[in-house]
Amino acid sequence: MTLSNNEKNLSRRRFLQWSQAAMAAVGATPFLGGAARALGATTAAPAHAASHVDYYEKLGVTKIINAAGTLTVYTGSIEAPIVQQAATEAAKHPVHLVDLQRKAGAYIASKVQCDDALVSCGCCSSLTLAAAACMQAANNCSPRDIPQNASKMKNEVIIQRSHRADYNHSMYSAGIKFVEVTGLDEYKAAFGPNTIQAHYLNSYPSQVSHEDWLSVAHSHGIPCSVDVAAEIPPISNLWNFTKMGFDLVCFSGGKGMRGPQNAGLLLGKKKYIDYALANDNPGDGVGRGMKVAKEQVVGMAAAVDWVLSHTEETMQGDYHKRAENIARIVKNVPSVKTEIVVPMIANHVPHLLIRFDPAVVGKSTRDIVTALRTGKPSIELNPNTGHRPNQGIPSDANTLVVGVWMLQPGEDTIVGNHIHALLSNKKKA
Ligand SMILES: *Cc1c(COP(=O)(O)O)cnc(C)c1O
Repeated sequence: MTLSNNEKNLSRRRFLQWSQAAMAAVGATPFLGGAARALGATTAAPAHAASHVDYYEKLGVTKIINAAGTLTVYTGSIEAPIVQQAATEAAKHPVHLVDLQRKAGAYIASKVQCDDALVSCGCCSSLTLAAAACMQAANNCSPRDIPQNASKMKNEVIIQRSHRADYNHSMYSAGIKFVEVTGLDEYKAAFGPNTIQAHYLNSYPSQVSHEDWLSVAHSHGIPCSVDVAAEIPPISNLWNFTKMGFDLVCFSGGKGMRGPQNAGLLLGKKKYIDYALANDNPGDGVGRGMKVAKEQVVGMAAAVDWVLSHTEETMQGDYHKRAENIARIVKNVPSVKTEIVVPMIANHVPHLLIRFDPAVVGKSTRDIVTALRTGKPSIELNPNTGHRPNQGIPSDANTLVVGVWMLQPGEDTIVGNHIHALLSNKKKA
């Protein structure tokens, strides 16, 4: 499947509209009066009282059932218990930040069998730091030259046109500019005196194989980076890309790894990780605003331990069973057909597709999405709902897509019952 840039932009825009609608649906509740009184009270209140405060409730924030997936706008994943514990313990003790960063990096690198690693504040921060590292490696400049002197230095990053994405924006902050190519011949011809990096976005369609991407760049002495933000599971991706030869590999922490949402990994060759660190907090580089607090640094080390405590099979949890359970609940509704699919690349877990005929059901996809969102409890479906086939999910205008992996115990039945009620009650939602 190939998507044109226009299509990608469209789907991106569609998704933004979707998330804005979600914001509007949950609404903003005025909270100042009660919260201000309570804030005043905390100075006098005993410390242990704080642990019982539900700040979502206090702030008037609606808790949702996440039948979407590890989406940023739905706050990613729920952290694994070991991650939450690690952060709580770390919060009690000050340490030297650089010592912590170095040792966490070395620990993670040893666990995922690569040269070196850095905990970033998300995959996009890994992308910025990777670009800054390549800029410094190519120009032997100071982190202080990035980005303001970048236009006077080597600063070209080669990328396939089909790999252009909003995420690329994170690399501009290091002062780079992109040179777009289509196909192997254009790629080979694109290397020049100003090339500093060759970047790959693994989950998007590609006309150049990993092997060719790497061998051509390396024959010019140019480092290769890859964005694999949402590509755990499979667990083996923790080492697949560094072993393939990518110099810098960028992951999200708060997606399938179940780490903190504001953390990520940059894995790779020591030389480039050293440069990335030089540009990162607490120095004065482009990463100064990308601070990862001690709680999240240890949280990411714990997330790696959590992933590695699994087999590929147990990483799939009981997701297939959940999808089957929901399928069973809705299967007798007239016109409904269900299918369970697992995208090959990124979000590689079972998703349930519920196809229906709006003429029979008496409601549109949009009616159902809105009713679920504004219902009690509020349920968010995967944004591929009502969408043409996208990223390995063969949906269409009359398909609901249920991402089951972020559901909490028992929520599969709740989601199934709510969808069943909406599909079988002909009254307009
Ligand atoms: C989610 C995602 C990102 C951004 O990751 P953060 O951890 O939120 O910074 C980047 N690239 C791809 C392909 C993604 O799916």
